Amino acid sequence: MIASEYVIIGAGFAGAATAYHLARRGVTDIILLEQEAIPGFHSSGRNAAMVRQCVSEPALFSLTRDGAAFLRNLPADWPEPVQFKQIGSLLLGSGEGWQKLQIDAARGRSLGVDVELWTPSQARQHVPVLDDAEFDGALWCATDGVIDIHGLLSGYLKYAGAHGARMFFGAEVGAIERRADGGFELRTDGGIITARTVIDAGGAWANPVAAMAGAVALPLKPCRRHLFTSPPLSWVDAQWPWVWDVTHDVYFRPEGEGLLLCACDQEELPPGDPPVDPTIRERLAEKIQRYMPGLSDVSIHKYWAGLRTLASDGRFVIGWDPRIHGFFWVAGLGGHGVTTSSAVGALAADLITAGSGQQVDAFSPARFVT
Ligand SMILES: Cc1cc2nc3c(=O)[nH]c(=O)nc-3n(C[C@H](O)[C@H](O)[C@H](O)COP(=O)(O)OP(=O)(O)OC[C@H]3O[C@@H](n4cnc5c(N)ncnc54)[C@H](O)[C@@H]3O)c2cc1C
Repeated sequence: MIASEYVIIGAGFAGAATAYHLARRGVTDIILLEQEAIPGFHSSGRNAAMVRQCVSEPALFSLTRDGAAFLRNLPADWPEPVQFKQIGSLLLGSGEGWQKLQIDAARGRSLGVDVELWTPSQARQHVPVLDDAEFDGALWCATDGVIDIHGLLSGYLKYAGAHGARMFFGAEVGAIERRADGGFELRTDGGIITARTVIDAGGAWANPVAAMAGAVALPLKPCRRHLFTSPPLSWVDAQWPWVWDVTHDVYFRPEGEGLLLCACDQEELPPGDPPVDPTIRERLAEKIQRYMPGLSDVSIHKYWAGLRTLASDGRFVIGWDPRIHGFFWVAGLGGHGVTTSSAVGALAADLITAGSGQQVDAFSPARFVT
């Protein structure tokens, strides 16, 4: 039996960034458990790696802003090389979508995010392949970009490991029981672990993990999304920003010498390794033909799927369970878990070290529990 003050379940961005920020606050008695043989096997290793500060949910804005600032300027003692390509981003909108983007831009500016509203011709000048695309306007954010997700995840884990956190891979938590002393006993493939605090960073499995500890399920839905990559394309400029048409839900960005593309599909599935659905490729081709015809000739070289776990109100779940003393959630990071990773880990670490009375209402699991 191994004893620890804190056990974190899950070595994706939620768990790794929480371990990192606990370690930065001098907390060293941490065990991190991951069911897979490697960290980042699920959502954290299968995403589009885009850093996006302007989002539609107002409560997330400070997390995207602070998370992006961290990624642009990693601390001096950061242990891993991580490339951040500050190529900027263009969010395209039409009709109501364009109205909404203008509101998001105003909110972004008020929070110190550097955004500009561009005309379609300004956007086309920057990314000529948009010449035939139809949209009413664009939101340009120069400080967005693309991050090396593997280096980033590895950096969080390396720092935590170098400051005392113990990590076990291939260690699935199969049962959690309450001990007579008020702590928890966790059964894993590798043996029993005891802890005073359990931190649920289980991604798509956040509810099944919570159920083991007796917590009520929260309205969290794992939803599949596919990403596609093209072969090298001579006309792609690696300095183009990532471009997202938020009205028609389709995006692309430079990837190597080609492009990465997404039709923004969203289908609820049980937690797991989601199978790919070949029909999404047709959906992508239709959207491109209609809304980004300049990309119509792009062929697809590879594609894969991952799960984004979304809370019903679009906000994250970061906080103490209102009923199960000592059980903490870091879940529901949806489509923003890379950008916000450091800000999420910092908030989680602040609340965990402050003790179980502390909550931030916007993210508290208590908002769902009556
Ligand atoms: C297609 C796609 C594109 C995306 N694009 C972006 C983007 O461009 N920018 C952005 O910011 N975000 C993006 N995201 C979102 C981002 O990837 C997620 O928000 C983030 O990775 C979630 O991290 P997580 O740690 O919560 O989950 P995960 O990475 O899934 O980690 C949870 C871990 O918990 C482990 N686990 C579960 N149950 C147990 C158990 N019982 N015992 C032990 N271990 C367990 C799992 O194995 C898993 O490794 C995208 C996501 C997808 C799917």
